[in-house]
Amino acid sequence: MPPRNDYYAVLGVAPEADAQEIKRAYRKMARELHPDLNPDPVTQERFKDVTVAYEVLSDPEKRRMYDNGVDPMASGPGGSAGNFDFSDLMDAFFGPSAPRGPRPRQQRGQDALIRIQVELDEVMFGSEREVTIDTAVACSACEGAGTAPDTEVIGCTMCKGRGEIQSVQRSFLGQVMTTRVCPQCRGFGSVVPHPCPECSGDGRVRTRRTVGFRVPPGVETGTRIQLAGEGEVGTGAGPAGDLYVEIVEKPHAVFHRQGDDLHCTIALPMTAAALGAEIPLDTLDGQELIQVPPGTQPGEEHVLRDRGVPRLRGSGRGKLTVHLQVQTPTGLDSAQRELLTSLAGLRGEEKPSATPMPQTTGFFGRIKDAFAGK
Ligand SMILES: [Zn+2]
Ligand SMILES: [Zn+2]
Repeated sequence: MPPRNDYYAVLGVAPEADAQEIKRAYRKMARELHPDLNPDPVTQERFKDVTVAYEVLSDPEKRRMYDNGVDPMASGPGGSAGNFDFSDLMDAFFGPSAPRGPRPRQQRGQDALIRIQVELDEVMFGSEREVTIDTAVACSACEGAGTAPDTEVIGCTMCKGRGEIQSVQRSFLGQVMTTRVCPQCRGFGSVVPHPCPECSGDGRVRTRRTVGFRVPPGVETGTRIQLAGEGEVGTGAGPAGDLYVEIVEKPHAVFHRQGDDLHCTIALPMTAAALGAEIPLDTLDGQELIQVPPGTQPGEEHVLRDRGVPRLRGSGRGKLTVHLQVQTPTGLDSAQRELLTSLAGLRGEEKPSATPMPQTTGFFGRIKDAFAGK
């Protein structure tokens, strides 16, 4: 029976071509038709044909069989029995199955995530930061190909470049086709016979790298800064994933953040609350003078507009609210005691009686106001 396939024509070589010529022709075509670069089914089919042709013509025993009119790739004893592909048969019955083909050796790298702690002043004004990360980068020895010097990726002989192996099994439904990942090439459709000694064929190596970036003003815990292409390089020198830097905000000793607003509490001597005062306060923007009017009550607030956190999205800044906590004097000496006693006398406060406070002040009043949106 004459062979069905003309393997010499598939590789574009003469029937008397020597082993070197066949190898060269295959390398050239495999590079052009490689499924990693050509995912379209037509080219993949050609890649398979070329791989099968090379498998026959590169093996002296198979080539002799073929030259003698026997196709060693045909199924059946001696290769001379039925020369058809079960998948073709199944296609005829059920229509072509979804194209799957070999999985590409080149894949996009993974994203990486790193967390950094930032101080409040970095949140307020932004900062330049650097992180040192452990990521995969392309192997410089093989430029990501994964092959040892002067060697090539070759088509997998077990699955003929398909990346999967189909078999037909009998079941109560009749014959069923099952497909499994090719164990020889792990689904790639090609194998690396001589892996690069630097990267063991992965096409990438791990290294420590320092990446600089800017923390924009207004970030908060959980904000992720995306650094495109700074993640892991993919296998086979595939494009790198992204690096995400997640912000963890450190608590500040004085200022407490609520959204874009800041809050702080300062102690106010009772006398200053009664008489009024001008109190310097060190904010993150520098010193501010807090004007305390005479008769300031405990819990009163002084609001500094635009001294809060800059808005990450949008413009402007939140406010800084200074809570005034009036301090009752303690540890009075006799002179102070005498002064306060005579003050109480002048104000008729020696024997205070219970004076109910209006509902809008005090703790419950503030809660009510909060719900009313005041
Ligand atoms: Zn390498
Ligand atoms: Zn395979």
